[in-house]
Amino acid sequence: MVKKEIVSATKLKKEIEEAKVELLSRNKKLKLSVKTEAKKKVDKKKAEAKKKAEAKKKVDKKKAEAKKKVDKKKAVAKKKAEAKKKVDKKKAEAKKKVDKKKAEAKKKVEAKKKEEEAKKKEEEAKKKEEEAKRTPEEELEEQLTEEEIIGFQIDKTDMDKLVNRVTEMIASYATKGILQNILWRKLKLSSRDGSRLALKLERMGNITREKILENGRWTYLLLIKKIPISTKSIENAPCLVCPVEKKCSTDGEISPKTCVYIEDWVLLELKTKKRHETD
Ligand code: SF4
Repeated sequence: MVKKEIVSATKLKKEIEEAKVELLSRNKKLKLSVKTEAKKKVDKKKAEAKKKAEAKKKVDKKKAEAKKKVDKKKAVAKKKAEAKKKVDKKKAEAKKKVDKKKAEAKKKVEAKKKEEEAKKKEEEAKKKEEEAKRTPEEELEEQLTEEEIIGFQIDKTDMDKLVNRVTEMIASYATKGILQNILWRKLKLSSRDGSRLALKLERMGNITREKILENGRWTYLLLIKKIPISTKSIENAPCLVCPVEKKCSTDGEISPKTCVYIEDWVLLELKTKKRHETD
């Protein structure tokens, strides 16, 4: 501080006044300066705060964008996952359908197989049944020719006589017929000869054969069809040697209706026939 010499009160007063003004000015400047600094500081702080806020804003923006991107990716991934799920579901359904069809096809194949097996078994059973039904006569018919059947002969046997006798025996059973095995037993014929004889008689048109099941076995019932005319049956007839044969007629005085010779002959023939049948 500069010490000044006091010259006069007026001058001093002036100097004081000038000093006051200067001091005021300085204070003012100082205050202004202080104010400016404070303002600067405040502004700086504000600017920094603003900067920070902007930086934060940028960071938040980036974060938001990043989040958005993540969300978008998540949404895409979710969409993909759902699409995949749908595709997987469709695939599973398609597979299920294919499996179902396969199972149905397999079932059909098995059913068909079973059906074929059952059919095969049925055919085999039928075949066995048919085989069981087959008779020796049927086998003979397959083995022999028609000539061999018609021309059947038994050694040391008069076949015409045998044919007539058998036919008459069968005829005596009329529509009831007789089982061939019973007849063969009566005639003391073997089954094979009897069977061939029956075939011969059938081919000759004398009898018919009816295949029947008797006591669990297939055999034949022999039925008369036509009685053959045999000269044997009339060879002892009294009419052949009758002296009045020329005068004999059904409506005449001499007639078979009243003839005792013919009556005796018929009775004798019947007795002979019955005896043969019981033999
Ligand atoms: S029916 Fe008597 S009468 Fe007449 S032809 Fe015969 S046997 Fe003779």
